[in-house]
Amino acid sequence: MLDTALLRELLANPKRIVITTHHKPDGDAMGSSLGLYNYLIQKGHHVKVITPTDYPDVFNWMPGNGEVIIYTEQTDLSNQLINQAEIICCLDFNALGRINEMGEVVRATSALKLMIDHHLEPEDFDDYRVWNINACASAQLVFEFIVDVMQERHLLNKDVAACLYTGIMTDSGSFRFPSTTSAVHRIVAELIDAGAENWRIHQEVYDNSSETRLRFLGHCLSNKLEVMYEHHTALIWVTKAELEQYEIVTGDTEGVVNFALSITGVKLAAFIVERPDKVKLSLRSRGDFPANEVCKKYFNGGGHRNAAGGTSTDTLEQVIKQFKSILPEYKKLLEQ
Ligand code: 5GP
Ligand code: MN
Repeated sequence: MLDTALLRELLANPKRIVITTHHKPDGDAMGSSLGLYNYLIQKGHHVKVITPTDYPDVFNWMPGNGEVIIYTEQTDLSNQLINQAEIICCLDFNALGRINEMGEVVRATSALKLMIDHHLEPEDFDDYRVWNINACASAQLVFEFIVDVMQERHLLNKDVAACLYTGIMTDSGSFRFPSTTSAVHRIVAELIDAGAENWRIHQEVYDNSSETRLRFLGHCLSNKLEVMYEHHTALIWVTKAELEQYEIVTGDTEGVVNFALSITGVKLAAFIVERPDKVKLSLRSRGDFPANEVCKKYFNGGGHRNAAGGTSTDTLEQVIKQFKSILPEYKKLLEQ
């Protein structure tokens, strides 16, 4: 592990830096990555953001978005940039498996690796870490990195602020999850003072839906929602054919699971979707119910206690059946 003084010294002179984040990037993945990008370019670094896969269009307005390279679309260039980088910043993930085949390329380089993350159980691949599972978003930790670690509050410009605001807004469920402490609100206030246009960012991200996405949501809620009151659990599952019928693109399924969790008395909500290559599960829970444990134990996944995900190579039907079959095991926790 590198010490802070040495890191500051390293970052005092221009370096070739790659920033990357987890696959299927969400608002915090893009917000923290582009927030850090907009900070580092002010210091004269040569910075590239490489995402393992594409991400929702609602983040395309973010400053620096035009510079983002998508690994699956420009693999050779990405590999070249990763291999030439002196520093690789890993944002909003802590295990190299989360960046797909890019993980082994990153692991093999001798570049200094900086991890900024708030997920449980970090893998040991980094040289410097800003890691706190109590942070509401990795974007909050990027703020703390700039202000506390680097002591460069004056570099929180409008672009950095807009990106970090987006990360905190999306990962805190618009400032309503328990992780949204008074300290988070103070950071957010500072970001608004630095030029983040909160009302515009909300509009860009949340009031920017395609007609098909809205109709898909309606379909899920009217026709696909199954509430198992005896287990305090709600489930929505969709087939590949339904994804095609509603012209679902990256990001369109985001948030559907939260509607299932919003039913009074429901402690656990699942959204199960048949993707072309595998079945993907998203779990959300309330209180003490360990959604991440279920994902880890049964669905090759993990995440946070109240928001976790996983995948399976079984058929959609089998996954639904398996999910329902494990509920009795958690009867006590679900009834609490
Ligand atoms: P989502 O349901 O939105 O895909 O994921 C919710 C959270 O669960 C993510 O923030 C991430 O921390 C975690 N997660 C989702 N899928 C996986 C997975 O396949 N493996 C692991 N370890 N975590 C996941
Ligand atoms: Mn996050």
